[in-house]
Amino acid sequence: MNIEIINTGSELMLGRVLNTHQQWLCRQLTDRGYLVQRQVAIADEGRAIQNAVREAAGHADLIICTGGLGPTSDDITRDLIAELLGKPLIEDPRIAAHIESFFLKRKRPMPPSTLVQARVPEGALVLENRYGTAPGLAMKLDPNPYRADRKPTWIVMLPGPPRELRPVFLEEVVPFLNREFPLETTFACRTLRSVGLGESRVEEQIAPALAQLTKAGLQIGYCARVGEVDVRLVFEGCGAEETVNEAADIVYQKIGAHIFAENDDNLENTIVKMLTERKKTLALAESCTGGFIAHRLTNVSGASAVLLAGLVTYSNEAKQQFLGVPAETLTTHAAVSEATARAMVEGTRIRTGADYAIAVTGIAGPTGGTPEKPVGTVFIALTDGERTKVINPINTFDRETFKYITSQQALELLRRRLLSLDL
Ligand code: ATP
Ligand code: MG
Repeated sequence: MNIEIINTGSELMLGRVLNTHQQWLCRQLTDRGYLVQRQVAIADEGRAIQNAVREAAGHADLIICTGGLGPTSDDITRDLIAELLGKPLIEDPRIAAHIESFFLKRKRPMPPSTLVQARVPEGALVLENRYGTAPGLAMKLDPNPYRADRKPTWIVMLPGPPRELRPVFLEEVVPFLNREFPLETTFACRTLRSVGLGESRVEEQIAPALAQLTKAGLQIGYCARVGEVDVRLVFEGCGAEETVNEAADIVYQKIGAHIFAENDDNLENTIVKMLTERKKTLALAESCTGGFIAHRLTNVSGASAVLLAGLVTYSNEAKQQFLGVPAETLTTHAAVSEATARAMVEGTRIRTGADYAIAVTGIAGPTGGTPEKPVGTVFIALTDGERTKVINPINTFDRETFKYITSQQALELLRRRLLSLDL
């Protein structure tokens, strides 16, 4: 099956918006056994959309086209594709009613132009969008004049905003795919996400044990990012799920202590889940991460049950005033030191009454380094009231990556303590 993605939007050409649809859609499709052959991004101008669709219809079985379904004058995807297929646009009263109630619920007046989104090309399938006003659409080009063999092509159009595109894809397009394009063989895929081991170490540890399954057709993919390595296990054919599960069991046996989540889950989700299950609370004192650890944790729904407080104590005075770090600790050992990290974390736990506390202090750079404490030096402390542990990695990166890596190490320190892996 040949799938092509067309992302429309001049903002993509101008570098104003990162084309996340491309990555997200490819990821969703491949994890379900559908491989994308080609992806193009084009400006939503003139005939560019029609040209791209016509070209893709020359060989694709499925075209997924994103963006330009909104109400403004630059939203022309629906009109141009309808025109290309020679279909008139007809107002769908159900969509019009949905749009009206969408505005009513939000107590906002409805601009009349919004109703253009209720216009549907004749014969199109409507992919309901509960998260915005413009529905997705699917149209079958059958027979397909652009293909030598006249084989049909489906054109799926999805709204541009990611918070709409993603749920519409999961709720509407996935069942559509299962119905219109059922897989010829069974397919299974699991991605195990690891932290604390380099890519080659991961491979070294797991590949020999998986050799038998690899011979039988198991595919292993390694994806290294800063501080993490994802291991993707894929099998197509009879017994796919059993094979992938067997492979995952082997990976857990070999590097289980390093696996913090699976598939789309992340470390902050895992931490909130683990604390919730254990009915434990956490407090944070952050210096060089500037609240980034708190930000990650508060992205998780339900964080309020476990996160009591997050203090950004950037100055020495704040470390003394809010965390009770003794002045002589700061003068004797400096703000970036094991002693300060220890005093910060213990003060945080006592003052908030949390079960666990994390504190970080470091030099993000690019200025502020010294020969003894180079840029990237960081002290990360964790306490449960009985035992305080301080680690001292050197994270030499740009400021943003520094914050991410440091937050990852801090959360991983807690994960290991919660699992008693850090003895
Ligand atoms: P709207 O009703 O909001 O106009 P739309 O279906 O017309 O939706 P666009 O106008 O193309 O979609 O895009 C709306 C917004 O969605 C863009 O401003 C952009 O922020 C985001 N967006 C669009 N395409 C992409 C993409 N490929 N990757 C990431 N974000 C995107
Ligand atoms: Mg738009």
